[in-house]
Amino acid sequence: MFDVNFNLSGVALLTEWVLMRPSGNPSDLILRRPAFMIAAILFLNRIYFSREVLLMKAMILKKARPVSEHPLVMKEMPAPEPDPGQIRVKVHTCGICHTDLHTVEGDLPLPRLPLIPGHQVVGTVDRVGQNVKRFGIGDRVGLAWLHSACGACAFCSRGRENLCEQALFTGYHVHGGYAEYALAPEAFAYAIPDIFSDEEAAPLLCAGIIGYRALRLSEVQSGERLGLYGFGASKGVMGSNLSY
Ligand SMILES: [Zn+2]
Ligand SMILES: [Zn+2]
Repeated sequence: MFDVNFNLSGVALLTEWVLMRPSGNPSDLILRRPAFMIAAILFLNRIYFSREVLLMKAMILKKARPVSEHPLVMKEMPAPEPDPGQIRVKVHTCGICHTDLHTVEGDLPLPRLPLIPGHQVVGTVDRVGQNVKRFGIGDRVGLAWLHSACGACAFCSRGRENLCEQALFTGYHVHGGYAEYALAPEAFAYAIPDIFSDEEAAPLLCAGIIGYRALRLSEVQSGERLGLYGFGASKGVMGSNLSY
């Protein structure tokens, strides 16, 4: 927690005192009303900024452009507050995916700007919204590309939420993990087993999920041969985890 703008508070207090002190000169009364209004604004500003606000650092994309032009800029901003059903994650690490490159360079149409990219997020729950039941504060979780889905369409009801037409994606439709804190519905967060370090778990949340889905669709059985091609990062992740 930070006491934000303590210096600003001091300046505001001093300005109030200068504006409001009695001068004894009747002509000053003409100036009193605007001076009072200014003082009131400064006073309210002081109250507002003296609240305890949790700030976070985040890498923000304001305008898509080539990575050679450094499209991500670090900014300090208030940490988000979880809505009902959401968890807030204190980010330990966030993997980098080629989709992030497409995002920051504008190869994909961007539904929102400014945007915090990143969808291979590992961290611990540090705050929960109302009605959160699966996770508690301190639990280590992962957030993946699929931020949420409607839960009611034909795809969602068949367990294929990734094809939901109303799906929202992490670091694309909603802010992602290139920040100290990120939000997600608890239903779309993953418990991370202790056997994985943060860095090991992060790529599993994108490349790992894609590779695992492809592996299941292949219906390969133990002892059968499996060919991997055109697989990108999933190949490496699956290759290191396959043992047939
Ligand atoms: Zn990805
Ligand atoms: Zn749906």
